[in-house]
Amino acid sequence: MTFPWQTDDWNRLQQLRPQWPHALLLHGQAGIGKLRFAQHLAQGLLCEAQLPNGEPCNSCPACTWFRQGNHLDYRIVVPEALAAEAGLTANADDEKADKSDGDDGKKTRTPSKEIKIEQVRGLLDFCGVGSHRGGARVVVLYPAEALNVAAANALLKTLEEPPSGVVFLLVSARIDRLLPTIISRCRQWPMGTPAPEPAVAWLRAQGVDDADALLAEAGGAPLAALAFASDESRTLRDWTLKQLAAGGGCDPFACGEALQKLPVPLVLGWLQRWLYDLLAQRTAGAPRYFPAASKSLARCAAELDVGAFTRFMKAVTRQRAVENHPLNARLVFEDLFLGYRDLFARA
Ligand SMILES: [Zn+2]
Repeated sequence: MTFPWQTDDWNRLQQLRPQWPHALLLHGQAGIGKLRFAQHLAQGLLCEAQLPNGEPCNSCPACTWFRQGNHLDYRIVVPEALAAEAGLTANADDEKADKSDGDDGKKTRTPSKEIKIEQVRGLLDFCGVGSHRGGARVVVLYPAEALNVAAANALLKTLEEPPSGVVFLLVSARIDRLLPTIISRCRQWPMGTPAPEPAVAWLRAQGVDDADALLAEAGGAPLAALAFASDESRTLRDWTLKQLAAGGGCDPFACGEALQKLPVPLVLGWLQRWLYDLLAQRTAGAPRYFPAASKSLARCAAELDVGAFTRFMKAVTRQRAVENHPLNARLVFEDLFLGYRDLFARA
C-alpha cells in the first residue's frame, strides 16, 4: 500500500512504464513515506498480473514472494542500522559475520549507519545473474545518502553501464549529499510534502489525537508526526518547551539534569525547531513548528538579542555536526541552554 497523499505521484509515474528509467531517484523530505512508496513500486514492477494502473495484485506468485521477502529478482539495500525500519532482518551471512566479530572480542558492535561497499558489491553479483522469472529485476537503495564514498563510486560504475533488465530505485531525503554524478545517472522524481488535510486525516485514522500540532512540529511530514506521537520522551519534550518558553528564566542546569539520558540529536531537534520559530515569529509573525506556543514565542522574540541569536544558531549548527559522537550529554545540554538563556540577557 502507498499512503493516501501519494496517489498523484503513483499515477504520474505509471506514465513512465513504456520506457521505465533504469535508475529512478525518489527524493523529498524525511518522514513522508518514500521508502514504502519505493517498495510498493518495486512490487508493482515485479507483479506478474500486469494490472493497468501498475498496482501489484497481491496474489500472483511474484507478489507472494515479495511479501514474504524472498523474491529472487528483488534486492533492498539499507544500512544495517535501518534494517528494522525497512522491514528486514539480518540475513544469514550478516549473522555469521557478527559471530566472527564476537570471536574477536567485539561483542557489542554498533550497527552501521552507512551503506558499505560490500553491500554494493553484492548487488553486482545480483545484476550479473539473469532474471529468475523472466521479468524485471529491481533494487531499492535506502537512503541513498547513506552510501559511503567507496560504495557510491562502486554503484556509479553500475549506473554508468546499467545491466539490462535491472531497475534501480534510489530513495533520498538529502539529495544535496549525493554525488552529482550519481544524481545525473538517475531520473529524478521529487516527492512533495503532503497537503495538511490528507496528512491530518491519516494521522487521526492512526489514533493520533493532536494530529494538527504534531504535523506542524514535524514540518508537515506525517510519518515523522506519527513517530512523535508514540515517542516516550514526550513528557520531557513538553517540559523542555516550557523551559524554552521561559526565555531568560530558563534553568540550564535543570535542563542538563532532566535531559541527560536523552539522545543529543533528539533534544537538538527540539531546540532547533524552537529557534526557527523564534525567528519566524519575529520576522513573519507566525511560527511554523509550534503554533500552539505562539504567545510564548512572541514574548521571547520581543526580548531577543539578535546579534547573540545569530551566534547561538551557529553554535547549535556546529553541535549538530558532531551530535552522533559520544559526548557528555549533560554538559552539552547545560552549555546549550546557558547559551539560550543568554539570548535574553539584558545589556
Ligand atoms: Zn502480483
